[in-house]
Amino acid sequence: MNASFSIPNPDVILIGSGVMSANLAALLKCLDPRLKIQVYEATEEIAQEASNGWNNAGTGHAGICELSYTPFREPDGSVKVDNAVKIFEQFEQSRQFWSYAVASGMVDKPSEFINPVPHLSFVHGTEQVDFLEARHAGMAAHHFFSEMEYTTDRTTIASWAPLLTEGRGDVPIAATKMDGGTDVNFGAISRKLLLWLAAQEGCGVATGHRVVDLERVLAGWRLSIRDLATGEIRHNTAKFVFIGAGGGSLPLLQKAGIPEARGLGGFPIGGQWLICENPDIVTRHQAKVYGQALAAAPTMAVPHLDTRVLDGKKTLLFGPFAAWTTKFLHRKGRWSDLPVSIKPDNLATLVKIGLTNIDLVKYLVQQGTQSMADRMEVLHVFYPAAQAEDWKLIDAGIRVQAIKKTDGEAGIVHYGTEVVTDAGRTISALLGASPGASVSVHIVFEVIKQCFPHLLQSLKGRDRIKAMIPTYDVDIKRAENAAFFREVHQKASETLGLS
Ligand SMILES: Cc1cc2nc3c(=O)[nH]c(=O)nc-3n(C[C@H](O)[C@H](O)[C@H](O)COP(=O)(O)OP(=O)(O)OC[C@H]3O[C@@H](n4cnc5c(N)ncnc54)[C@H](O)[C@@H]3O)c2cc1C
Repeated sequence: MNASFSIPNPDVILIGSGVMSANLAALLKCLDPRLKIQVYEATEEIAQEASNGWNNAGTGHAGICELSYTPFREPDGSVKVDNAVKIFEQFEQSRQFWSYAVASGMVDKPSEFINPVPHLSFVHGTEQVDFLEARHAGMAAHHFFSEMEYTTDRTTIASWAPLLTEGRGDVPIAATKMDGGTDVNFGAISRKLLLWLAAQEGCGVATGHRVVDLERVLAGWRLSIRDLATGEIRHNTAKFVFIGAGGGSLPLLQKAGIPEARGLGGFPIGGQWLICENPDIVTRHQAKVYGQALAAAPTMAVPHLDTRVLDGKKTLLFGPFAAWTTKFLHRKGRWSDLPVSIKPDNLATLVKIGLTNIDLVKYLVQQGTQSMADRMEVLHVFYPAAQAEDWKLIDAGIRVQAIKKTDGEAGIVHYGTEVVTDAGRTISALLGASPGASVSVHIVFEVIKQCFPHLLQSLKGRDRIKAMIPTYDVDIKRAENAAFFREVHQKASETLGLS
């Protein structure tokens, strides 16, 4: 790939080479092979920020193990599972598109980006055990989760994940397990898709190029791009721009100055992991184990003990722990990112966030002042026999939580993802982080529906999308479509080597 290769006046420019831009660029090129597409990336390599394997947990979020999607009990004691069903369906679109990419030869070696890892939920204490049993009843009743197992039996839990029971006292415990879970290297799939794109006619991927300004012009948007090797500023124009710059999206959106972005703010939360590379421990754990949120922790900070497979090597990862930061990007961020993002139109919202989210502020202060002993105490909830010498603390990525006004009133911290598109459908930006990379195909497919509806309307377009995401026009949540869902799911599992 020529790092400075740039197509003049392409149809589409994507800013950033993370999983969002990579999927959008690949989907668009598959839908219309004549499209000219240019990607600009500030770092020297593709997908080095949030999508990089070390900067996220790599959980293929499918609602299986994350208790945060099913937090409440209904008055009758049952647990509502709609949100888990929704996330599963969205992740299914990623599996299908990536399986198409493998089957059609766009990308190779799926084990370099996706691997089967059982997903477990684990709780302790009578109240939580009771909750998990009710959750399991709700989940297993849906065909997405019919294979989910539940147990309170220690020997069974020890056979699923021995570290959970080693050295544990007599408190009641329970777990659910589904073997259909995955560990995903989102950086690896982004690289593979963008290398494919760079080899297509009329497409370019330029790394080491930072977009520094955007200006609306008659033909769409004129971008100013700094070549970071030479310092030279270049310009390029496109009819449509996707700002998939992760933490860098908000500043670019503010530069674009579209009315839809007024009042939006961003609040960065750094992440840290404890990692273990001791082979005696790593080989004894093959699961992603999610627990309950710690008091006042935001949903994305629910702790988990994870098997990771990165660059062919298996490690264990525990966290995330939150860390204070004012940077919006892990590698190319600046300490001034947060202060510079504060504008007259979002100042009031940000102040209100601070005043109305005291628990969140307290949580961040508590996290920021934690010692290794404090972190080990949290790890002991999952792995009571863990020894500090086997674990080290590393920095993970940064999530910039989108902050927006609700009905013009108090601001809210938005933990989900927020796609902001202008009225003319010439620019779209992605803000926020959760559930993030796993549902990237679903998110960018929504961008295509909104901004490129013509690509889906023709017979050819419909055939193409059906080949890439066979369930795109079928409500696979419904029981009458369960057989179709199983057939497509199984086929994708086989192609991706997950069976
Ligand atoms: C601690 C943590 C754990 C997570 N765990 C999970 C998980 O288990 N599962 C999951 O699905 N999701 C997880 N996520 C979320 C997931 O990592 C993100 O949602 C996803 O990677 C975002 O992808 P992106 O393409 O939007 O951003 P990024 O991957 O950050 O890509 C943005 C790119 O834009 C580039 N860029 C920025 N500004 C400019 C500019 N001006 N010009 C050119 N390029 C620019 C950056 O260098 C970067 O490469 C986690 C996130 C964190 C922080």
